[in-house]
Amino acid sequence: MEKNLKQPVALTGDRPTGPLHLGHYVGSLENRVRLQETHKQYIMIADVQALTDNYEHPEKVRENVLQVTYDYLAVGIDPTKSTIFIQSMIPEIAELTIFYLNLVTVNRLRRNPTVKAEIQQKGYEENVTAGFLCYPVSQAADITFIKAQIVPVGEDQLPMIEQTNEIVRAFNRIYNTNVLVEATALVPPIARLPGTDGQAKMGKSLGNALYLSDPSDVVAKKVMGMYTDPLHLKVTDPGRIEGNTVFAYLDAFDPRRDEVAELKEQYQRGGLGDVVLKKRLIDVLEAFLTPIRQRRAEYEKNKDYVVGVLKEGVDVTRAIARETMAQVKQAMKLDYF
Ligand code: ATP
Ligand code: MG
Repeated sequence: MEKNLKQPVALTGDRPTGPLHLGHYVGSLENRVRLQETHKQYIMIADVQALTDNYEHPEKVRENVLQVTYDYLAVGIDPTKSTIFIQSMIPEIAELTIFYLNLVTVNRLRRNPTVKAEIQQKGYEENVTAGFLCYPVSQAADITFIKAQIVPVGEDQLPMIEQTNEIVRAFNRIYNTNVLVEATALVPPIARLPGTDGQAKMGKSLGNALYLSDPSDVVAKKVMGMYTDPLHLKVTDPGRIEGNTVFAYLDAFDPRRDEVAELKEQYQRGGLGDVVLKKRLIDVLEAFLTPIRQRRAEYEKNKDYVVGVLKEGVDVTRAIARETMAQVKQAMKLDYF
């Protein structure tokens, strides 16, 4: 197959605890749609990772595996070019995680800035589970079992890649091997899309997300309620573009860059109202989302096909996982017979 000739591999995953949002698109999906043209790309649906903070809600995770797959296909992930698989169907990832846990200290995990922020955000404090604290180790297994060299992610994932590479170096040194491969993060120019409420990051768990599957009326409502500049009260007042969510979204999604630059100038001078800008953003997002919605609707009608895509992805990936595991076990002297 043609896709197997492309090098090197790229991998990322999303946690299926809800459908994908514009932040996922800007942070990694857009890059993944491009990467599949030049790279052998694997995309993982991170259901095991989703369980680390949703272990009491397996039904939610299960339902969203399919929803996230629809989103991938709708934005243009092509199953003839990319391989999509489900994390829990690859038991070698869990096996690798156990081996890697010996190579990481609990203190190092506690210092991981992304995990630290999430523990705080979720209010876990001292009650954080071992599973949650250790999810970066499991993520190192996700990345390394496939020997990914490029990982397209948003900037909040950089500490994960760093931690992964520390594990790779420790493993290769201790077991005197070169089985594992270091990975490089591919971070897009807009590293982080803010939430509709103006918070620094759009996130499902933050309740400030605009979803790829949101219908038109929901998009309009979310945009009209967006955070702009709280001091920009009258149309004639000069407005701020720094921290202004509407401009952040126009920067990310409006293809007419010159016009956006002009609007920014006008807004800062005064004389441009928020409603005009928000209406423009609604049009821009509708133009972006309409073809995505149409493709999603097609795939939803062909559920069996989509399930088949996942099944094939798992079969292909599982074979690679077995190979890596054999090499890992040999390096660790666990190849008994
Ligand atoms: P959420 O954080 O929304 O609850 P999640 O936990 O499923 O969802 P993450 O694992 O945080 O998603 O992110 C999946 C990918 O999308 C990562 O590469 C991440 O960097 C990227 N991403 C998520 N939200 C944003 C955002 N607001 N801006 C840019 N990239 C983002
Ligand atoms: Mg997240």
